[in-house]
Amino acid sequence: MKTERRFRGIGVSPGIAHGIAFVHRPDDDPPPRKVTAGGSDVEVERLRDALCATRKQIVELQERVEESLGAKDAAIFEAHVMVVEDGVMIDEVEKMIRRESCNAEHAFHTVIHRYIRSLGEMEDPYLRERAVDIHDVGRRVIHNLLGREPAALGALDAPRIVLAHNLTPSDTVQARREFLLGFATEVGGKTSHTAIMARSLNIPAVVGLHGKLTAIESGSEVLLDGYGGLLIVDPSEQTLFEYGAVEARRKRIDEDLTGLRDTAAAMRDGRPVMLSANIEQSDDIAQALASGAEGVGLFRTEFLYFNRDDLPVEDEQFAEYRIVVEAANPKPVIIRTLDLGGDKLHDQLHTDREDNPFLGWRAIRVCLERRDIFKTQLRAILRASAYGKVKIMFPMISGLPELRDAKGVLEECRAELRAENVAFDEMIETGIMIEVPSAAMIADLLAKEVSFFSLGTNDLVQYATAVDRTNERIAHLYEPTHPGVLRLIKMTVDAAHAAGIHVGICGEMGGDISVTPLLIGLGVDELSCGAAVLPHVKRAIRSLDMAACRALAESALQCDTGAAVQSQCDELARAHYAELL
Ligand code: PEP
Ligand code: MG
Repeated sequence: MKTERRFRGIGVSPGIAHGIAFVHRPDDDPPPRKVTAGGSDVEVERLRDALCATRKQIVELQERVEESLGAKDAAIFEAHVMVVEDGVMIDEVEKMIRRESCNAEHAFHTVIHRYIRSLGEMEDPYLRERAVDIHDVGRRVIHNLLGREPAALGALDAPRIVLAHNLTPSDTVQARREFLLGFATEVGGKTSHTAIMARSLNIPAVVGLHGKLTAIESGSEVLLDGYGGLLIVDPSEQTLFEYGAVEARRKRIDEDLTGLRDTAAAMRDGRPVMLSANIEQSDDIAQALASGAEGVGLFRTEFLYFNRDDLPVEDEQFAEYRIVVEAANPKPVIIRTLDLGGDKLHDQLHTDREDNPFLGWRAIRVCLERRDIFKTQLRAILRASAYGKVKIMFPMISGLPELRDAKGVLEECRAELRAENVAFDEMIETGIMIEVPSAAMIADLLAKEVSFFSLGTNDLVQYATAVDRTNERIAHLYEPTHPGVLRLIKMTVDAAHAAGIHVGICGEMGGDISVTPLLIGLGVDELSCGAAVLPHVKRAIRSLDMAACRALAESALQCDTGAAVQSQCDELARAHYAELL
C-alpha cells in the first residue's frame, strides 16, 4: 500500500480536486531509446527530415509575421533558419546518434542544450540571445521529431490535475477547460495571472510548492486542497473521506447562493452596489451573466494574442468583442486595451528578455509604441460598441501625457471610422485603470480627463509595496490591506467623486469577501470579480449596511499595520456572513 505524502504551498484558488496528476515539464529531455545497428541510419534520416520540416515552418512563419508585424520583427527568424542550417551542430548530433545508437530526439536535445548552456553563460548579450533562438528552434525540431509538442497542455485528453514548475497564461489557455481539474505550481502568487485564471475557471490552485514537484510522476493519484494550500499524493481513505465532507459543504453553499442570481446587489439599508464580472475570453460571458453580474467590469483582452505566431486582425477582434457586447446588452462591458508584458508575454513581441518585466515594456507602453497594434484593437472595440454598451479602459496609466497620447490615438480611430461610414457609439465612455501609485496620487488631475476609474489593486499593491505579485517567496509581504494601499484607494475614490466620476475596483480585492465592507466603506461604486465568487460577494453585500461599512473604513484608516486592518475586516465579515468564510 502506498503511503500518503503531503506538500504545503499557498492556496490561491479555493476548492478541492481529486484525480490523476499530469506533470507539465515543457523542457523534458526526450528519453533515450536504443536503436539497432541499421536503426542509426533511420534515426539520422528522421533528424534530417525534421530539420527540413522545421526550416519550411520557419520560412512560412517569417512570411506571415512580415505581413502582420513588419520586416523588423520577422528578421529574428533569419537567426532561426541559421540554427537549422548549422552544419557543425548537425554533425555533432549525427555522430552522437551513431556513437550511442540512440534515438534522434534524445541526441538532438542533448547537443543543443549543451550549446544553450554555454551560450547562456556568455558576457556578450548578442551571444546570450542566440541561446534563446536555439532554444526556440530546438523545441520546434523536437516537436517535428515527436510529431507533437513536448508535454504541452493542449495534448491533455482527459481530466487532470496539472503540476508544473510554472504555468503561464499562455500555457493554461492551450488546454480544454473540461480537462483542467486544478493547478499546482512551484512558483507564483495569489494575483499571478495563473491564479486569476484558476479562479476564473473555478478550479483549485496551490502555488509555492518549491522544489516539491520533481519527485511526483504523471499518473499519480493526487488531492489538491485550494483552501488550505495542500497537495496530497496518494491520499488515504481517511483523507478522502474528510475532504469529501468539506466538498459537500461547499457545494451546499454554492447551491444556496444560486438563488441570489436575480436579486439586487443592495445593502440592508437599500443602497445599491454595482456588482460586475471580470472575464478573460468571450466564452466566459455566459457564466458571468448566469452568476448575476450587472455588467463586465473588466474584459482582459490579452488571451486573444496567446499561442499564435501572428496577431489577431481587426475583424477577428471585432467578432470576439461583439459576442460579449451583444450577450451582455444592455449591460455595460468595460473592454480593457491590451495589457501584454509582465507575466503575460507574447512570443513574437517580447523577444528581448527584460530584467524587470513588471516594470518594463508592458500594457499601454507597448500600445503607444506599437500604434499599429493599438489602432487595430481600438477600431475593433469601437466597431463592437455599435452592438451594445461598451466602455474603453486603458491599463497601466502612470501620468497625463500617456493618457492624452492614448486618447489621441482613440480620436484618430474614431475619425477614420466616421470617414469610412462605419457605425460606432459616439458617446462611448473612456476610463483608466488606477494601478500605478503615481496615477493614484494624481487621481484629481486624471479624473478631469476620463469618465471612470477602475482600481487595479493586483498591480497597485505590488507597485506600492514593492512586492512582485508572482513571487511566492515574498507572498507573505503582499498585503492588500497595507495602510499605504488603503490611502491610495481613498485618494483615488475621493478624487473621482470630487470630479463626479464613477470608480470601481477590478483587482482580486473586488472578489475577496473579507474586504467587501472596507471597499464599500471607502466609497467604491462598483466591485468587479470572477463569476465563481460573485454570488458570495452579493450575499456579503446583502448582509451589510452602509453605516457599518463606513465605520470600518474610518477605523481601518487609523490602523498602523496591514494585519490590524485585516483583523478588523475579518471581525466584521465573521459577524455578518461567517458561513461564507
Ligand atoms: C489589476 O492589476 O488589479 C488588474 C485587474 O489587472 P491585471 O490583474 O490583469 O494586471
Ligand atoms: Mg493590472
